Amino acid sequence: MSTQQVRRGRFITLEGIDGAGKSTHLSFIRDWLSGRDVGAAFTREPGGTPLSEKIRDLLLDPGTVASLDAEALLAFAARQQHIAEVIEPALAAGRWLVSDRFTDSTYAFQGGGRGVPFERIRALEDWVQRGLQPDLTLLFDLPTEVAAGRMAGTRVPDRFEQEAADFHRRVRAAYLRRAEEAPQRIVVLDAGRGIADIQADIAVHLQRLLERG
Ligand code: ADP
Repeated sequence: MSTQQVRRGRFITLEGIDGAGKSTHLSFIRDWLSGRDVGAAFTREPGGTPLSEKIRDLLLDPGTVASLDAEALLAFAARQQHIAEVIEPALAAGRWLVSDRFTDSTYAFQGGGRGVPFERIRALEDWVQRGLQPDLTLLFDLPTEVAAGRMAGTRVPDRFEQEAADFHRRVRAAYLRRAEEAPQRIVVLDAGRGIADIQADIAVHLQRLLERG
């Protein structure tokens, strides 16, 4: 009996402060990938499974009161279920999976924003991910004031979006620190530019990933 080896899919994550343009570029990525034979699927964090979406609701609800560690643990509980139920099966089946946020968000929001020590997040990451890392992370970066201006009046702020400007500055700084630590995985895109320029860059990085052996 012959078993056919399925080539593992690719895992792409989108990151950035709120209002950086992730949703805007997600639809471009969807269109770009739909023209390639990669069986692309799309998901998000926190969320992506019924349990994880319930945890998302708790995390984003402005009425939720959670300690720093409880927030980090909830994020990783949602992530563990997401990995087991969605991410690993998709990658094992050879599909490309694009996630709107992943673990860099926990470093940025719970670590940088809230002050949870990075070592504690790293311990949870090791436990929950067992070495799983994205193949490519697109980090949409822009000054927090520009992001706030773009978002103004367009949405009801969630529990994180309603945080003070300083919180968002710390989140951005933590993201940039992550990018310095993992330059081979994380691509920093200047999201202050026009949409067409940013998307031309995105296409270059997706094409590179497609061609990578
Ligand atoms: P996110 O999903 O990261 O929170 P969005 O994609 O919702 O961000 O973008 C926030 C707002 O900024 C939206 O109104 C969007 O149309 C606008 N926007 C996104 N990218 C750009 C850009 N490069 N230039 C100008 N406006 C943008």
